Amino acid sequence: MAKTYDIIIIGSGPSGYTAAIYAARANLSVLMFQGYQVGGQLMLTSDVENYPGFEEGILGPSMMEKFEAQARRFGTEMIPEDVISIDFSHRPFTITSDSGEYQARAVIISTGASAKWLGLPSEQRLQGRGVSACATCDGFFFKNKDVAVIGGGDTAMEEALFLTRYANHVTVIHRRDTLRASKIMQGRALKNPKISFIWNTEVVEVLGEDEVKGLRLHNVKTGEENTLPVQGFFLAIGHQPNTALFKGILDMDKVGYIIPVEHTMTNIPGVFAAGDVTDHRYRQAVTAAGDGCRAAIDAERWLESQGED
Ligand code: NAP
Repeated sequence: MAKTYDIIIIGSGPSGYTAAIYAARANLSVLMFQGYQVGGQLMLTSDVENYPGFEEGILGPSMMEKFEAQARRFGTEMIPEDVISIDFSHRPFTITSDSGEYQARAVIISTGASAKWLGLPSEQRLQGRGVSACATCDGFFFKNKDVAVIGGGDTAMEEALFLTRYANHVTVIHRRDTLRASKIMQGRALKNPKISFIWNTEVVEVLGEDEVKGLRLHNVKTGEENTLPVQGFFLAIGHQPNTALFKGILDMDKVGYIIPVEHTMTNIPGVFAAGDVTDHRYRQAVTAAGDGCRAAIDAERWLESQGED
């Protein structure tokens, strides 16, 4: 008979590792599915300067190595595979990955969210070298530079406004001639003298070999192409929570973010959710880590209440 873990954690970002540290230190048996892309979104970030405790800053991938090492130190078992199916219909819950079936008394979902990208090869090549999907993380590196933000929603306005603290000038590029953002955010961005807008325009290529030098733009109304010289390019075309596995099983909002019903517990007792998979608002490493702590404490107390701690 296969071992039944007290807790299986799905996802290896800051929330998953923090949940693992707390749960394993509480003497629970913990298995984590790290996913084939171990470490989550921070693996795509360069310096992290706003996570308390790293006064000199730390590279995103180095930070995730530390999170992983700390979780291992307390006995978390880890499998670097994606979960391919789940059965939450009865307990113990069953989680299946390429290597087999695993059972757990409680589950913590911390599969995070993924920034949407345009899908251009040049965008991928220059990720972390001037192309970013997080102004809060990377804006600081663009002091007195010219940058562009793509998108017309609240995130794009927020990112553009945030970037004006550092950048010389911010150009917002939007594929239509009206913004999707709320009136208040639109008003702030449109009034800001450091922000200008290019309408009805798509980005077809990010220019530069080792760093961003500019963008090749295509006007969707006139068909005209031209070049915008910038040193930074920020994607703000939305995020997608990684919840496809749980559709129809867990309560979600219309975008697919999991909605917890009691603290971090979902509509299925014994299944908890933490981090960006439940949060389209803050999306920070430190808030995700805090959430992972909450989920582990909730899971531990719930198991205790079931007489199963
Ligand atoms: P969003 O509202 O879905 O907006 C995404 C924007 O990106 C849209 O303008 C869209 O253009 C554009 N876009 C999408 N795919 C594109 C592509 N392939 N190429 C070019 N442009 C593309 O996403 P969001 O701005 O991240 O906001 C998500 C949710 O969080 C919203 O409910 C928002 O109100 C909320 N939010 C709130 C705040 C706040 O209140 N401070 C801050 C951030 C986010 P179209 O308009 O043409 O579709």
